[in-house]
Amino acid sequence: MEPTSRNFTANARDALANAQLQTSLAKIEPGFVANRAAAVARLPEFEALRDQARDIKNHTLDNLDFYLEAFEAKVLESGGHVHWASTPADARQAILEICQSVGAKTVTKGKSMIAEEIGLNEFLEENDVEPVETDLGEYIIQLRKEPPSHIIAPAIHLVKEQVEAAFREAHDGMFDPDRSLEEPRALLEEARAVLRQRFLDADVGITGANFLIAETGSTVIVSNEGNGDLTQTLPKIHIVIASLEKVVPTLDDASAILRVLARSATGQEYSSYTTFSNGPRRPGDPDGPEQFHVVLLDNGRADLLGGPVRDILRCIRCGACMNHCPVYGAVGGHSYGWVYPGPIGAVLTPTLLGLAEGRHLPNASTFCGRCESVCPVRIPLLTLMRHYRERAFDEKLSPAAERTGLGLWAYFARHPALYRFATGIAMRVLAAFGRRRGRFASLPFAGGWTAHRDLPAPQGATFQRQWSARGGRRS
Ligand code: SF4
Repeated sequence: MEPTSRNFTANARDALANAQLQTSLAKIEPGFVANRAAAVARLPEFEALRDQARDIKNHTLDNLDFYLEAFEAKVLESGGHVHWASTPADARQAILEICQSVGAKTVTKGKSMIAEEIGLNEFLEENDVEPVETDLGEYIIQLRKEPPSHIIAPAIHLVKEQVEAAFREAHDGMFDPDRSLEEPRALLEEARAVLRQRFLDADVGITGANFLIAETGSTVIVSNEGNGDLTQTLPKIHIVIASLEKVVPTLDDASAILRVLARSATGQEYSSYTTFSNGPRRPGDPDGPEQFHVVLLDNGRADLLGGPVRDILRCIRCGACMNHCPVYGAVGGHSYGWVYPGPIGAVLTPTLLGLAEGRHLPNASTFCGRCESVCPVRIPLLTLMRHYRERAFDEKLSPAAERTGLGLWAYFARHPALYRFATGIAMRVLAAFGRRRGRFASLPFAGGWTAHRDLPAPQGATFQRQWSARGGRRS
């Protein structure tokens, strides 16, 4: 079955039955979630910083053309090049032409969700350029030929034994076949030994960017492995691929957002490496690339600026929303069927691929609001998901039975007396039929529930009758 967003329900069903995946996902709550909570508790001004980060991003979006042009001018001033790409195809082609201009055979890559968004690896391979992922998680999933399942922890769906199996197969002939790879440290050292040579062999290094700074023309990446630094300093050419909304006005603005980024993502105060790049190597510099290129991808983002989902452009890709989402925690990232999983994916996928492709994802939420409550730039994720739910209903994209059911429910909800009457009858009928066993093993229109567990038969009066019997007040 094709793992697209259209198959979310089936993907999720498979994920729930996958015991190994459930073991991997169980680590999120005591890891990312607990670490974020501890980091936030140590910083009294954290909530004020969230407001500041939101305001910086809103101000930048209000003046996006100005700041992008200022950024471009600074990059050109430092001797770099800027390539504007309207579509993923434009971005891919620009990168390929840069690679071909120096006859590149191998490119090293730092972690980049935009590279995933435009399908860069597959395109480079089709054109005889070998991409080598250098972030450990990305390297592992590249060996396994699968997409990331999390935006900051791409291999979070795997257990150690799966990584060991991937290494033994991919590194066959390179190391002693009897070596022990049981300890995570041994896996790390083997990956490091392989990647060290790939760094040295690469003709081109490609990284993403967490920020583009208009004031200085700098690009900024944060990582915990230092692989981004080697990717951008060792090869002759450094290419940065970033989407338009990554720009911020000043160094101070980037510093303010950095204070909420790592805390929200991993619970660190700062990531181990925060690297600023400015143009190519200057005379006297000890290292650095001879050429510096920035590929700026739009892919429909400029059209969002005046529309109802504009707030999604504030996203700084910290991953906190998915770490705290009970749906993501149950089904993992691959169920979402495209590069962006979790609540951010539930908004970005229909935005970037269209509602026909992504309409299931805004429904893949309990609307508990945990994602919104932790988003460092205060994106109203529930409002945005609700927007797409309404649009799917209006555009008749959901199944007819679902629309009919929602239409009926809406009619009754607008007529409270009728609603009370109908629910009273329904509860009495269900109570009568369910009295003997106290539960239903199957029920018309409730197969999604009863396929996995029994539905308890109603007991006593409806909630509304009990409520009015208590005078409509808390007892
Ligand atoms: S929507 Fe918010 S919480 Fe989710 S990745 Fe983006 S910035 Fe982080």
